[in-house]
Amino acid sequence: MLATVNENSNDYEEPDLFGPAGHRMNPPERDMSLQVPNYTKKRPSSLCSDDGVLDDYEYEGSLHSQQGSFYLPHTGVLASTMKEDTSQLSAVIKMGWLDKNPPQGAIYYQRRWVKLDADYLRYFDTDKDVYSKGIISTAFITNVTTVGELKFEVVTNNRTFIFRAESEAERNEWVTVLQDCTSGRQRHTVMNPGSPLAPDYQGYLELKGLRSKLYTVVASDKVFLYKNIDDYRIGLGITSIEMNVGNIKVSDRRSFDLTTPYRIFSFIAESEQMREQWVNAMRDAIGEALSNSEVAERIWAESSNSLCADCEAPKPEWAAINLCVVVCKQCAGEHRGLGPSISKVRSLKMDKKVWTEELIQLFLVIGNERANSFWAANVPPSEALSPSSCSEERRRFISNKYRQGKYRRYHALYGNQRELNHALCINVQCSDVLETLSLIFCGADVNCSTGLESQPSPLSLATAHSQPLQAELLNHNLNTELPRLEEVDAMDPEPYPLPPSVSHNGFLFKTASMARPVTERKAKEEFSRRWCTLNDGVFSYYESDKNSNPNGALKASEIVCLASDNDDRHGYNNTFEIYTESERLYLFGTDDSEVKSQWVKSIAKAFIPVSAEPLLRLNSERIGKLMCKDGLNLQRSKVGWFALEGSVLHVYLEGSQVEEIHLRKLNELSIQQDNEVMVLVGKGRTLYIEGKRKLDFSCWCAAIQAAAGSGGDRLHEQQLTETDIPVIVDSCINYITQCGMVSEGIYRKSGVNSRVAALCERFRHDARSLCLREGEHQVDDVSNTLKRFFRELKEGVFTTQDSPSWLSTATIQDESTKISQYKQFLNKLPHVNKATLQTLIEHLYCVQHFSDKNQMNNHNLAIVFGPTLFQTDGKDYAAGRAIEDLIEHYKLIFEVDEQQLNKQIEVIEFIDKMRLKNPPSERGGDFICTVYLEEKASGERHVKIPGSMTALELTLEILDQRNIPIKDKDYWSCWEICCKEEMERPLHYQERVLPIVHSIGTESHLLIKKHAAMEAITLYLSSKPDASKHGMIKFREERSILGLGLTSFHERYFILNYNSLRMYKDVRSNRPEREWPVKNLKVYLGIKKKLRPPTCWGLTVLYESMKQEKPERQQWYLCCETQSEMREWYATFLSIQYDGNVWPQDGLQHKRVSRELPDTRHGNVSLIPLRGSENEMRNSVAAFSQDQLAVGSSASSDVP
Ligand SMILES: [Zn+2]
Repeated sequence: MLATVNENSNDYEEPDLFGPAGHRMNPPERDMSLQVPNYTKKRPSSLCSDDGVLDDYEYEGSLHSQQGSFYLPHTGVLASTMKEDTSQLSAVIKMGWLDKNPPQGAIYYQRRWVKLDADYLRYFDTDKDVYSKGIISTAFITNVTTVGELKFEVVTNNRTFIFRAESEAERNEWVTVLQDCTSGRQRHTVMNPGSPLAPDYQGYLELKGLRSKLYTVVASDKVFLYKNIDDYRIGLGITSIEMNVGNIKVSDRRSFDLTTPYRIFSFIAESEQMREQWVNAMRDAIGEALSNSEVAERIWAESSNSLCADCEAPKPEWAAINLCVVVCKQCAGEHRGLGPSISKVRSLKMDKKVWTEELIQLFLVIGNERANSFWAANVPPSEALSPSSCSEERRRFISNKYRQGKYRRYHALYGNQRELNHALCINVQCSDVLETLSLIFCGADVNCSTGLESQPSPLSLATAHSQPLQAELLNHNLNTELPRLEEVDAMDPEPYPLPPSVSHNGFLFKTASMARPVTERKAKEEFSRRWCTLNDGVFSYYESDKNSNPNGALKASEIVCLASDNDDRHGYNNTFEIYTESERLYLFGTDDSEVKSQWVKSIAKAFIPVSAEPLLRLNSERIGKLMCKDGLNLQRSKVGWFALEGSVLHVYLEGSQVEEIHLRKLNELSIQQDNEVMVLVGKGRTLYIEGKRKLDFSCWCAAIQAAAGSGGDRLHEQQLTETDIPVIVDSCINYITQCGMVSEGIYRKSGVNSRVAALCERFRHDARSLCLREGEHQVDDVSNTLKRFFRELKEGVFTTQDSPSWLSTATIQDESTKISQYKQFLNKLPHVNKATLQTLIEHLYCVQHFSDKNQMNNHNLAIVFGPTLFQTDGKDYAAGRAIEDLIEHYKLIFEVDEQQLNKQIEVIEFIDKMRLKNPPSERGGDFICTVYLEEKASGERHVKIPGSMTALELTLEILDQRNIPIKDKDYWSCWEICCKEEMERPLHYQERVLPIVHSIGTESHLLIKKHAAMEAITLYLSSKPDASKHGMIKFREERSILGLGLTSFHERYFILNYNSLRMYKDVRSNRPEREWPVKNLKVYLGIKKKLRPPTCWGLTVLYESMKQEKPERQQWYLCCETQSEMREWYATFLSIQYDGNVWPQDGLQHKRVSRELPDTRHGNVSLIPLRGSENEMRNSVAAFSQDQLAVGSSASSDVP
């Protein structure tokens, strides 16, 4: 049959390619080769061609279609079982005979063999034909409806095709599968034909035997033939040629043959030069096709890989590379729906780059069967899939299998985090990759610490032990989300109400996407202009507004963070960043600030759920979601939506109100556990933000840290204490109170300028981290730092606006009018200013109280502070006058409780008295501390503790105070009592007390009492030639912040010798599971009752390493069978830590006599221990940590 090509036909009929060759026509003038120069690369990646993100988005287009419902043919056979179909690589969804409506003018329907796959509806002359008469891209099908008897319409934008089935049932099934296949797809009106493949080469080519030229497109491993360029643009083609069976032969100057086993296509190019280009393009396509199927063929060589791991469909062409399963296209679609953090879906044929030799080998070694021995160990037959399962069944099964891990074979160590991690570290050194798979997906942390400096991670361990397959497997699972059974509502894909649909479009400038934070300035040249659209929850960017095929697309649901950059950070003045679930960062820029703000608002609206909607009303510089836990529930992490605006972090947690965290007022802000958790300790609450994804987490950390630092030169922009006083003011005043109250000329004498400048800078950088210490910092430097702070403070403490009023008040003669006016202005001040002013004036009031010693009376202080606080040149008498008034009438103006003030002065007097008696030691400030004798109820003693004081000295001092005689075998010791007396630790007699004072929390205290077991300990040790011990102990770990860890006691074999404590799984193990240096251990007697120790003979062991960059603390529990057993372990620890010197050789009495006894009794004054904030204490402790005897170090209040 000869085709009649009717250009005006509203219908579409194909030219007959395969009829007898007609005469050759000269190429018409209009024919031009339309080469698209942008698409020079061979990678089939139209969606992301300009940003290099090939990995996660490239097949979005084709896979989208997979997420709808699909049916396998009930009639007809599977494509792969048909001999003549081996070249047809896409999986056929349905095929069968249909009558197709004829071209215009003809009467009879034509019988056609019709096949549908995800991308095309094709129709053939016969069921034996390989090359179709027509193909319709499913992406262009806008509607499929039944019309009349047995008929249905396939509507595209430009043409309507009518098909007639043989039965009603058959017709309805075609309609259903076609509707399924095309619904929810991105509609196209014009696009590239090979979607989602980018054309590598295209243009008109003459096919011998045809009167007109054909528009020919080489895309990836296929060649498409179209009647003309218009048809190409609307997705209606003649046929596609799979190049894996092709061969190219140049036959003459302008012509060449594309030979396939089914037909020879003889093409004629316009010129010899063009022929050369066509030949090259087609040869590349063959190479692409061959190399593509090469991977698939190799993977299938393992026989179980030739059936889909999920539904057993034959010849699966896709793989979840992190889960190690090969799956069919339909299952791949459902995998895709799980998101890349659960399943990384790659094509065996198209994702050439990902298929390294190691990955191929990994898939051969594991294989679907072995992988399923883990993943599908317990599948109820009723839930199993078959190739004909519907998409709903597939979705449920695949979610159960991989998202929830419902069918997996549980590893013996399941639930035991440390052991899983440990087993992972051991196993990656051998070749058993299946065991690694099982460990990873039963919870072993791929990023856990191996404890080895040279190979800190399992990945590096695997590499070091030449286990490339292990390394490959680990590498693909570094960010994998683990199966989580508790997600019973996992079928619900949106746990939050969907954000409203937002639409926005316009031009933006975009750089290539990145896998790490943008640290460097991006010049304008690095941006490319892109047409961007936000529609139906998808943000897409296109080459231009004329293109309909996006260069890339991001689902709003994949966006995890949106950050608005500071102006002028990059070449474009206004830029913003989008972060995705799969850890990519996209940077966009525009010259128009309004355009940027519109985009930022629209994108935020598209991904922030309705419940967190208040966050959208903020003018936040960063908004997004993070996993977090709060102090109330550490077991389960939840999704939190965060917005950072200035120094306030707005947080919305599931089911609660949006709350504000004032970052500058945090007590603590730290990043712990190897940069995995950010801890924010604020007023009454602690929030743990988890770094499940590294990229946006690290950027959040940096932003939050920056926001928590001082934000400017105004008073309220400083880091503040809980009472709203700048930390710098609080620190300086505390320091002067402790060390400088009686210093002559305090605040008048100047410090060393360079040191003052350095102090100011340190405070400006992070006031919270600076701890002022006697010996290290000079009184006059600190006093001048405080003055400089106030002098340089923007707008001053009295505010620019109100300063003149204060000054004019100073000139009022009538005292009571003046005071009431001061009070009035005081109440007008912003809260921070008022609190700061009061703190400072109170301090100055105390300073002048000691003017007989420091020579700084009221007037002298006013001379100094007047110009400082009012920021005048010093000639204005009123400034000094005002300060003098404020100090003089402090009690009246600030309405101070007189008793309170007197108490404060008493404390200072006491400090002064102590200082006179005991000149400051070389290092460390003195601290007043509460110490109890024998029991807490028996009354407290206040003792000044100099930095050098040892536990023995403190013990003797308390005994002296109480006149308690020391008998021969009295082993008086100083104890650290913790956790409501459930744990205690006698300090070693040489141990310094001050670091302990700093480190103990509110539930702990120091107690002087006898050490009843010391005699037994010394006896035991003297009976042993060297200090070592081994034996079984019941072991348990502390829960980590993330809620992981061993939750019950397990028998372990321990060996303790001169330098390390090693733990073995059992006596026969020759490899320790864990190892700790003994000198870094702090051993407490007793275990918290709530941990349910199996016996009452327990030890709590604290391990702390003070490595500069990665301080680490762990706590675990050892439980012995008998008391003597526990004592022996304890004695051995002690002996090793102090080289056998556990008790003074000649006893306490001798020490007492040799000691000079200062009179330190001071009546019953109630003293507030003068301690700084938590952070300051930590820092002061850190200074002691270099001291070998200062075993102790920082500890927060909830741990001993
Ligand atoms: Zn399957």
